[in-house]
Amino acid sequence: MPISDRLLMGPGPCNPYPEVAEALAGPVLGHLDPDFLAVLDDTNQRLRQVFATANALTLPVSGTGSAGMEASFVNFVRAGDPVVIGVNGVFGERMCEVADRVGAQVIRVDAPWGMSIDPEALLSAHPSPSIIAVVHAETSTGVRNDVAPLGAGKGEALLLVDMVTSLGGIEVAVDDWKVDIAYSGTQKCLGVPPGLAPLTVSLRARERMVARPLSWYLDLNLLSRYVQEGSEGTRVYHHTAPVTMIAALHAGLGAVLDEGIEAARIRHAECGRHLQDGLEALGLTLFADAAHRLPQLTTVEVPDSLPSGMSEADCRRLLLTRYGIEIGAGAGKLAGKVWRIGCMGHTARPRNVVTLLGALKEVLDR
Ligand code: PLP
Repeated sequence: MPISDRLLMGPGPCNPYPEVAEALAGPVLGHLDPDFLAVLDDTNQRLRQVFATANALTLPVSGTGSAGMEASFVNFVRAGDPVVIGVNGVFGERMCEVADRVGAQVIRVDAPWGMSIDPEALLSAHPSPSIIAVVHAETSTGVRNDVAPLGAGKGEALLLVDMVTSLGGIEVAVDDWKVDIAYSGTQKCLGVPPGLAPLTVSLRARERMVARPLSWYLDLNLLSRYVQEGSEGTRVYHHTAPVTMIAALHAGLGAVLDEGIEAARIRHAECGRHLQDGLEALGLTLFADAAHRLPQLTTVEVPDSLPSGMSEADCRRLLLTRYGIEIGAGAGKLAGKVWRIGCMGHTARPRNVVTLLGALKEVLDR
């Protein structure tokens, strides 16, 4: 099966929207070309729509989702700041590591992997944290953490949310939930290849930005002078923007907005339910707590008995080589224990769900 026919049902990237593939093949413009700057401005405006925010400082950071995570900590944390972080998977762990490197006093609030984090535990973990941080959609476990109660109860703290796997797939409401800093990635529910980290920052957070962060590249004071809208002459060169990736993101956001944010959410919800019901019908056990299960990323336990002589990695390899379908291995302490099946962006279609379920049935001989 040709590589170009791969069906990407791992934790990311997903298959890009057709409009994105077209944009990737389009002309390369200069990063200060007025035609490109118009695309950049419109990309920022489209990001505001999917983040559901009026934040002026909304931009695609050059780099993958982890660059968004680093930008979110390095621009807002000063040495010794108490930072409360929810941890129920690999990406909460990564937040702790990043915050620690920036010099934060990290206060971890752990929940068992597969369960969501109790918002009250986060809100009561420290009397006056400078930041409360959580991963909205934990890609390593398939669990959603609730954000709205954190916004309601955050007090003086800034609320920082990882929306890498949630944006474009499940409900996101940055302003209504009083989120101060949110970042995402392009390769999940936005249906764009990896390479950019959409980021949005509230006015309240901007007032607390570190004046001279440890990272020059991710310094939002400098970046905003290039990325923010205004007349051509006000743009100050910072780095050469990845013009083709921004054109691709613009197209992916266009696809989501043309479909409608709510329609895309419903499509993800329906495909996720279809997939999860189908896996259970095959006799498999879903890993994530049912009340907080993500539709766009399903974790399913590797069955105790596999067809003779096959390991879990053999099963995934057979899915790839015989059927051209990629699914993901377990991450972190779930390695070898679960499979992660993505149904994100353009991949979240009933025919892909049916194809995967049929192939898995054959591979597992059920
Ligand atoms: N946060 C979450 C929830 C993720 O799923 C990922 C990647 O899968 C990241 C952060 C890091 O993003 P990237 O791998 O694009 O750097």
